[in-house]
Amino acid sequence: MMAQYLEIKARYPDALLFYRMGDFYELFFDDAVAAAGALDIALTKRGKHQGEDIAMCGVPHHAAEGYLLTLIRKGFRVAIGEQLESPAEAKKRGGHKAVVNRDVVRLVTPGTLTEDSLLSARANNFLAAFSEVRDEAAFAWVDVSTGELTVTEASALSLSPLLARTAPRELLVSENTGLPDTLAEDMGITLTRRPSGAFDSKSARHRIAEAYGVDGPDAFGTFTRAQLGAIGALLDYLDLTQRGRMPLLRPPHVERAGGTMQIDAATRANLELTRALSGGRDGSLLAAIDRTVTGPGARLLESRLTSPSTDISVINNRLASLSAFVEDSALRADVRTALRKAPDIERAMSRLGLGRGGPRDLAAVRNGLEQAETLGARLARDPLPGELSEAHARLSGHDALIDLLGQALVAEPPLLTRDGGLVATGYHEELDETRRLRDEGRGVIAGMQADYVKTTGINALKIKHNNVLGYFIETPASHAAKMMAAPLSDTFIHRQTTANQVRFTTVELSELETRILNAGGRALDLEQAIFAELCKAVLARAAQISETARALAMLDHTAALAELAAAEDWSRPRITDSRDFAITGGRHPVVEQALRRSGGGSFVANDCTLSADGDEARPVWLLTGPNMAGKSTFLRQNALIALLAQTGSFVPADAADIGIVDQLFSRVGAADDLARGRSTFMVEMVETAAILNQAGPRSLVILDEIGRGTATYDGLSIAWATLEHLHDANRCRALFATHYHELTALSETLKGLRNATVAVREWEGEVIFLHEVREGAADRSYGVQVAKLAGLPDAVVARARDVLAALEEGDRGQGGKAKALIDDLPLFSTTPPPMSTPATPEAPLRDRLAEVWPDELTPKEALALVYDLKSLSEKG
Ligand code: ATP
Repeated sequence: MMAQYLEIKARYPDALLFYRMGDFYELFFDDAVAAAGALDIALTKRGKHQGEDIAMCGVPHHAAEGYLLTLIRKGFRVAIGEQLESPAEAKKRGGHKAVVNRDVVRLVTPGTLTEDSLLSARANNFLAAFSEVRDEAAFAWVDVSTGELTVTEASALSLSPLLARTAPRELLVSENTGLPDTLAEDMGITLTRRPSGAFDSKSARHRIAEAYGVDGPDAFGTFTRAQLGAIGALLDYLDLTQRGRMPLLRPPHVERAGGTMQIDAATRANLELTRALSGGRDGSLLAAIDRTVTGPGARLLESRLTSPSTDISVINNRLASLSAFVEDSALRADVRTALRKAPDIERAMSRLGLGRGGPRDLAAVRNGLEQAETLGARLARDPLPGELSEAHARLSGHDALIDLLGQALVAEPPLLTRDGGLVATGYHEELDETRRLRDEGRGVIAGMQADYVKTTGINALKIKHNNVLGYFIETPASHAAKMMAAPLSDTFIHRQTTANQVRFTTVELSELETRILNAGGRALDLEQAIFAELCKAVLARAAQISETARALAMLDHTAALAELAAAEDWSRPRITDSRDFAITGGRHPVVEQALRRSGGGSFVANDCTLSADGDEARPVWLLTGPNMAGKSTFLRQNALIALLAQTGSFVPADAADIGIVDQLFSRVGAADDLARGRSTFMVEMVETAAILNQAGPRSLVILDEIGRGTATYDGLSIAWATLEHLHDANRCRALFATHYHELTALSETLKGLRNATVAVREWEGEVIFLHEVREGAADRSYGVQVAKLAGLPDAVVARARDVLAALEEGDRGQGGKAKALIDDLPLFSTTPPPMSTPATPEAPLRDRLAEVWPDELTPKEALALVYDLKSLSEKG
């Protein structure tokens, strides 16, 4: 057995081998040590190998999924080694000592999961591949659990944004690539290096032909060699992990370069698109806008939110559908009600396709298609706008399959086929009969007994059962002669005569007996055969069902955005080909909802005009204003409005005119990246460099407090130069928030720069935040007041006020800030200290000390000095 184990393990060196032994999966050697640690289960020993104890641990077969989930989450791959025959079969084959045949039936990796228990219903689970062929590169990603496969051009530079966008669980790269491991690992992605042959474009052609049953990739369009390589690598890996069973895949979708708004990883993180800065989904834009009622709808929402379009017709198509749902609330409500009953067809189909499906997956298909028909009927009005009409066309046409599944399946089938009970009564005559036999054996026998009483005319005839004869017919001995003579003897076969009774059987009875005995097993076999047939019938329509599933996801996504727009009073944006950017009454969707939840007052809406075309255009806004006034909120809300608009959603504003944004950049706050040895300032500069090097005339850039992480003058200089560069070189639409009020002077020289500020009111030394953005510049930051609000000790606040006053005075005076500080604010301030601080009579003490030369003091003089100092301090 160990030899077999080692042979299998040698083929899967990078995975933990789950080696099936009876009711357990056992792990040995290093695998056992790793798994016991990761799963927190006991590590034991079993036998010896080359003189050493063999480490072992095991997990019960029936509870394996939970353990698998933990291991996969911790980044392991797991090879499932099953018994391919029973011990009895093994014995028959190879004698007493034969080892049960085993092999790996599946390699479970983070990117290739299909089980509901291992997946999040509302998020995709992507496996990605990056391939490089000389000077071209491509990136492809597939969700095995839904069959979606997309490929796009890429480069070493665009890989990181693509990873941030698709957030795959696992990335395949060639073993020859120069990409560092950290690239994927920093994002929590498992990096899997594959032989370079897996990325070969010629083999990819064969793989595509085989996987899709077509002549070659040309059936789906034109692909670059790198794109073929990336798709080929995915298919090769699926073949390896699924052990030859190819999942149901949709034809590869080629995403046009530039078809989506480019958003880099830092921008996604800063804008908290799908995850809040704290790391969770809560607090993110996605969480705030998600009103979908199905898993597929939620996945589509995330996918569109992470890849806003740059194609006006695509966006307008989506907006038109959304408008229809916003306007017709009754239709929307009906659609959402039907969708709530629609299960996740995509994932059910993927499991069925891989032969891993169960009765509930068939029921999911049945229920989903039924709801699709209902929706089809409800939406049957013309003309339907945009995407809605495309979706409508894909909802129906499954009548025959729905009927079949409706008749064949019970309403709520069990999870597994193992125990039967999935086929409905009335669907299959033999099955009904078999089940009747199994469940009502006695009743059937009683019926037969009554028949025989009638045929023989012997009222005392009985059908009985014992362990020796099984079922038999018994009559009192007095009827023996009649029974054994023609015509009854033709039917009744004599078995036994006892003192008082004669016993018979009939062909019919022994058949019935066998049937009763076998009924349980037979019913199960029949059910399994029917299950297989139903799977076949469903899979025969896989392509059409997948279209319907997509239509349902689209309806859910659109109805949910409409629900949001109606509930939150969002409006339809106008998307143009210009470089306009005019938002009236814009709001930050997440902050607005948070304020409402906390009862913290209502959100103040603000306008923003960054339109870049025309002589009077002022596409760059320099925003100054007090701390806590709402600068960051304003910056982000405008970026989010542009992003939402281009996903095809309504926006949190009274009106929005947006000229397509092709790249969105945001640098709002930064955290230390100590793991990579980069300080806050370094991270900030790296991100700023990326923006200044990449932003173009169609970009939208938001920069918040650039340069704050270093010395004032360095920071101011960097901010100054950055702003000039954005204005003159990048020529993009930009919002730039700063506390360096000196920058406001730039509006005199930079024609496209507008100063804006967030208004506050000062009242009795306190600030009141109005959160209103107005034209103009802030005069000060009110940082000290905000610090006071935050609860800094009074003494510190008072001291800060003095320092600030002196600094401002110094700015105006001759000697500069440092001189002002030294002259006017000696270390021990002369201003009256707060009550709680003891008085410090420092001046006389200092004068006395100034006279002293410590090296020249005798011990006696030193003692005298101490008395002197003490008396001076007491006098003070
Ligand atoms: P700092 O300069 O200290 O970074 P800031 O000016 O960037 O501050 P924000 O962080 O944007 O300020 O906003 C502070 C808080 O003010 C927010 O958390 C929110 O509660 C509130 N706020 C911001 N904008 C608005 C608004 N338009 N209406 C109502 N409340 C707002």
